Amino acid sequence: MESHRRLTGKVVIATHNPGKLEEMAWLLSPYGVEAVSAGDLGLSEPEETGLTFAENARIKASAAAKASALPAFADDSGLCVEALGGEPGLLTARWAGPEKDFGAAMAKVEEKLREAGATDPDQRRAYFISALCLAWPDGHVEDFEGVVEGTLVWPPRGPDGFGYDPMFQPDGYDRTFGEMSAAEKHGLPPEGTGLSHRARAFMELAEACLDGVPEGGFPRAVDYVPGGDDSDS
Ligand code: IMP
Repeated sequence: MESHRRLTGKVVIATHNPGKLEEMAWLLSPYGVEAVSAGDLGLSEPEETGLTFAENARIKASAAAKASALPAFADDSGLCVEALGGEPGLLTARWAGPEKDFGAAMAKVEEKLREAGATDPDQRRAYFISALCLAWPDGHVEDFEGVVEGTLVWPPRGPDGFGYDPMFQPDGYDRTFGEMSAAEKHGLPPEGTGLSHRARAFMELAEACLDGVPEGGFPRAVDYVPGGDDSDS
């Protein structure tokens, strides 16, 4: 059996993004670890020079672990669109420009889909991916990845979420992430189904490295929503 290192005590959350910091601290909160932020420790942000999401998560977590002499937790995520050869991919955040205008970023995706002639839902397949990394000061790392597949809709729908949420409709649902509450999108079982890419990666991480996960692991949304169930009952 694969052996993983358990995380106990303090962990540095290696992000300077307040939204991600809050979400990662919230995900870790039930597991008896104390989260401190890289910003509070005055750590600088390394350049994300990796060629994959996993590499970038590892660069961020490893730099924070080395600089703080504590275990560190980082994530890297993005949207990959099949008809665009995987774009925006690693450039997902950058497509929103310095103003972080995700309305413009979604319009850019739509424009490129139209240029590619992708009008049918099955030509508009995409997935969100989240790579999570836990790194220790001695160089040990644990990597996890989660993916949620879906279809890109136009026009964007829903006021909730962030980034590209309003144009992403996960498989099995007729609502976009922008039309879902945070609990429905990110919530872990038993409250939620662990639907989002980040929730899916986090469930893997929690089962491998955290104490206090339900015996036998989390039930997976994918296990009990075959082909989807979007009923409100
Ligand atoms: P990162 O901060 O370098 O990991 O960039 C991730 C980018 O991917 C964010 O700026 C978002 O635009 C996008 N993204 C990642 N996860 C989500 C999500 O759950 N919903 C919408 N957009 C997301």
